[in-house]
Amino acid sequence: MSSDQHFVIVGGGLAAAKLAEALRDKDFDGTVTLISAEEHLPYDRPPLSKEHLAGKKAFTEFLVQPAQWYRDHHVDVRLGTTVTGLDAAAKTVTLPDGSTLRYDKLALATGSAPRMLPVPGADAPNVYTLRTIEDSDTLIELFESTRRIVIIGAGWIGLEVAAAARAAGVQVTIVEQGELPLRAALGPEMGRVFADLHRANGVDFRFGVQVGAITTEDAIATAVANGVRLADGSTIDADAVLVAIGAQPNLELAADAGLAVEDGVLVDAHLVTSDPDIVAVGDIAAHRHPVLDRRIRVEHWANALNQPAVAAASMLGKEATYDRLPYFFTDQYDLGMEYTGYAAPGEYARVVVRGDLTAREFVAFWLAPDNRVLAGMNVNIWDVTDRIKELILAGDPVDPDRLTDTTTSL
Ligand SMILES: Cc1cc2nc3c(=O)[nH]c(=O)nc-3n(C[C@H](O)[C@H](O)[C@H](O)COP(=O)(O)OP(=O)(O)OC[C@H]3O[C@@H](n4cnc5c(N)ncnc54)[C@H](O)[C@@H]3O)c2cc1C
Repeated sequence: MSSDQHFVIVGGGLAAAKLAEALRDKDFDGTVTLISAEEHLPYDRPPLSKEHLAGKKAFTEFLVQPAQWYRDHHVDVRLGTTVTGLDAAAKTVTLPDGSTLRYDKLALATGSAPRMLPVPGADAPNVYTLRTIEDSDTLIELFESTRRIVIIGAGWIGLEVAAAARAAGVQVTIVEQGELPLRAALGPEMGRVFADLHRANGVDFRFGVQVGAITTEDAIATAVANGVRLADGSTIDADAVLVAIGAQPNLELAADAGLAVEDGVLVDAHLVTSDPDIVAVGDIAAHRHPVLDRRIRVEHWANALNQPAVAAASMLGKEATYDRLPYFFTDQYDLGMEYTGYAAPGEYARVVVRGDLTAREFVAFWLAPDNRVLAGMNVNIWDVTDRIKELILAGDPVDPDRLTDTTTSL
């Protein structure tokens, strides 16, 4: 599309950067403005709880694009700038100084923020969350001086930080309201694998507990946290506390502007919102998935990486559909895994395992009641994701015995 058109991207994460890239790849030669609340150019977040936290990857290695790229491609990047309003009728966004910026097409890529724990003591200075490079750097420093940390929440980020803390020699206790880690994401069968992995690396779990308060040295506002008190009155001492109870999508702009919003910004299969001139991508997009035939919102890196090409096509009036299966990965200690597909809790019949569960070298499959493969997770086995995808997309019932027989090719 040639033009004097102005496309504005609100957000400064992977999805925002990839959208700018996709617009230029598709030869859009109008003006592109990317407005980010953060002070840094867009970067990948997965290393924040993995390689960067472990001191193995410098920040410059996981920028989505170097500064020169934005200059070369004439992307006007405004850092440290939080968009405070969106007027979809006037087609403007409001900047912190009260000025407005007119757009022809708008992309929302505002991502997520850590969920806060509404208990006394949660605002103590040594209570942390992890979302940004600053948060990750703070934890790196903390691990150098801290002896004991309590992590609240046994989800992906809680577990990954636990692994990094253990590698740094920090004692870790994880408190979790569920009976296992990752129960909502993986179900009990595979949750146990992660519980065993962390126990083998010295993590102390307290499952089935609620945090009543984060305890502080004094009852004054600036007092530092020294542990947590559980709902049953028992306490766990700590020098620092990490709250890792999940993230919530940043939906205020979209909701205030009157776009259709539920637990995310509602978008169709082309990633277009209820306003035809506005697309939404990444963590905030609650997308009508044409293959899974349902609306899903996933907080995965691969989604933020791949959705923008489709959204850019939609902004340019071209036909494109986002139909990739959900995919995510994690690295903890010596376990690396990839998960492909979607097996909602309560919707799968059973999990079968191909390989050696005890040695943590296997592929797990989530099967529907009629033995269709809904999802697959390869643990310390590589280059099988495409095969897993094919099995899911084929939509045919499989023979579980053959599937789990390692002498039969996948
Ligand atoms: C520590 C950590 C580890 C992770 N590890 C993995 C992993 O191993 N595998 C995996 O699949 N996923 C992982 N994820 C999730 C993955 O990083 C996210 O799904 C991805 O970052 C989403 O990208 P996004 O661009 O949609 O949103 P975000 O990355 O959240 O970026 C949103 C950006 O928009 C900015 N913004 C928000 N509101 C405004 C506004 N009003 N004005 C201007 N700017 C605004 C924010 O400041 C931010 O810069 C991890 C996430 C974290 C935090």
